[in-house]
Amino acid sequence: MKKRGKGQLIVLSGPSGVGKSTVIAELFSQRENIYFSISYTTRQPRVGEQNGVNYHFVTREEFEGMIARQELLEHAEYVGNYYGTSQKVIDEKLEAGIDVLLDIEVKGAAKVRARRPDALFIFVIPPSFEELSRRLHARNTDSEDVIQGRLEKAREEFSQIPNYDYLVINDKVSNAVEEISAILKASECKVANRETIYKGVFAL
Ligand code: 5GP
Repeated sequence: MKKRGKGQLIVLSGPSGVGKSTVIAELFSQRENIYFSISYTTRQPRVGEQNGVNYHFVTREEFEGMIARQELLEHAEYVGNYYGTSQKVIDEKLEAGIDVLLDIEVKGAAKVRARRPDALFIFVIPPSFEELSRRLHARNTDSEDVIQGRLEKAREEFSQIPNYDYLVINDKVSNAVEEISAILKASECKVANRETIYKGVFAL
C-alpha cells in the first residue's frame, strides 16, 4: 500500500557542535526513503569533509550567482560564510515521495517556514551550554576565535526555539534519534498525509 504521495520536508536546526551530523547519520542508517539535502557553502572544508558529500563547497562568486539566478530555496550568512539550499533537488525528491532533511541554521529555517509552512521544524539542543562548549573544543577543528563565535551564535539561536514545532535534546545520540523518529512517525500518521490511504479504504 502506498503510504503517501509526496515526501515530508524536515528542517533540523541546532547550534554548531550540538551533534546534529552524528544524529543525522544514525537516523539515516535506520530509515529508508530519506534524503539529506547537501547544502552549498563558501566555508572551507574541515578535515575529513568531502565535496558533494557533506557540502558542495563553492566560491563566494559561485554562490552569489546561485542567489542571482534564484536557485536557492533559502540562504543565510553564518559566521562569515554563505550557506544555502538548492531548490531543484529538494522538489525532485519530495515529488518522488522521498523525505528530505535540511540541516540549516535559524535564519534559513525562518525563510523555509515562510515558503513551506507544511515542513516539520525540529530544534536540537545540548543538555547544557557547558556541554556544547566542551563538544566544540573536543572536535578540534576550529580555532578558539571561531569556537567563541559559534558559542555566541548558539545563544542567539536559542532565542528562536519558540519558532520551531519540536525540541529534541541530544544528551545521547540514540535518545535524540528515537525522538526524531517518533516525530516523523507522528507526522506520517497525520490525516493530511494519509489521504490516499483512507480514500482507498473507504473507496472515496
Ligand atoms: P557548519 O559550518 O558547522 O557545518 O554549519 C554552520 C551552520 O550552518 C549550522 O547551523 C548548519 O545547520 C547551517 N547550515 C548548513 N547548511 C545550511 C544551509 O543550506 N542553509 C542555512 N541557512 N544554514 C545551513
